[in-house]
Amino acid sequence: MSENECVYEIAILGRAVWQLHSLNNEGTVGNVTEPRSVRIIDPNTKKAVTTDGISGEMLKHIHTEIMWILSDKNNLCAACRVLNPEKFNFAIKTGKVKAKDVENVLTQALQTCDMCDVHGFLIEKPTTSRKSTIEFGWAFGIPEVYRDIHTHARHALGEKKSKESENQESEEETGVSTQMVYHRPTRSGVYAIISVFQPWRIGLNEARQNRYTYDVNDDVRKRRYKLVLKAYQLLFTRPEGAMTTTRLPHVEDFSGIIVYSTKPIPVPVITPLKDNYIDEIKTIAKNLVSEKDEEENETSLKVVEFKDIADFTEKINELINKKPYKIDLGDQQCSGQN
Ligand SMILES: [Zn+2]
Repeated sequence: MSENECVYEIAILGRAVWQLHSLNNEGTVGNVTEPRSVRIIDPNTKKAVTTDGISGEMLKHIHTEIMWILSDKNNLCAACRVLNPEKFNFAIKTGKVKAKDVENVLTQALQTCDMCDVHGFLIEKPTTSRKSTIEFGWAFGIPEVYRDIHTHARHALGEKKSKESENQESEEETGVSTQMVYHRPTRSGVYAIISVFQPWRIGLNEARQNRYTYDVNDDVRKRRYKLVLKAYQLLFTRPEGAMTTTRLPHVEDFSGIIVYSTKPIPVPVITPLKDNYIDEIKTIAKNLVSEKDEEENETSLKVVEFKDIADFTEKINELINKKPYKIDLGDQQCSGQN
């Protein structure tokens, strides 16, 4: 890998092994918390099966939090500094920032905030949005994921003391009134993960109908690129979703491939649910050669395998040293002609 290479897009496709976790749940009904379930088609049997899911929202949320931890807070907007999910909308809504039009909102957000730029946001007034440069699919258990609902009892302080000091009848009453039984799900499994990151869009203002511009300089773009990749490293070494207070996941493994392009070409995505996804991506990468690639006798789609979490962090480190791609926007874009 050359350090001078520019990276257009990156896909991370892999299988993560997480044991005894409860990273994402449907919600709680009464005293029972239900694990999040999804229906998929099992590629082996071609039949629909219910399996364990962790939503893309949850993974994006974990990535956002890690980015926040790693970021210099001076490079964030007032909302992102305190992880307010409204992001730049908060600045507009509270009148901290005055914007002339949607283009100007985008320009100010891109120039102010590392998180707003890469993770995207919605603005109510004037109505506009910034599409995230980072995308996550659902992570789901490759059948068979093991799921269990465990029953727990919460005992209130003072219960033991009152039992000792009071007679049998009131002892039972006290026990009933201070003990709460609840049910918590725990799962173990191999999870298929897909995520795409678009470094070429960092700092790119796409709000105008007739012209796109990069509204931040190359140093800022590089800083944001690095930050996103570092957060990916930590996402798989320390997934911090729901219920980690008592269900901190036993992180065991993460293996798969990183696919990246060095010229404008969308990276292929194939689900790691398929056993042969790595070979298939490698073949696709060979087939999608551009004319320029042929001239230069190389491919602009690169496939890098990683065998475990440590190897993943190493391979991402190699990407961190590269630069985010900047598309050539030309001088006269879309100004009436095709
Ligand atoms: Zn922000």
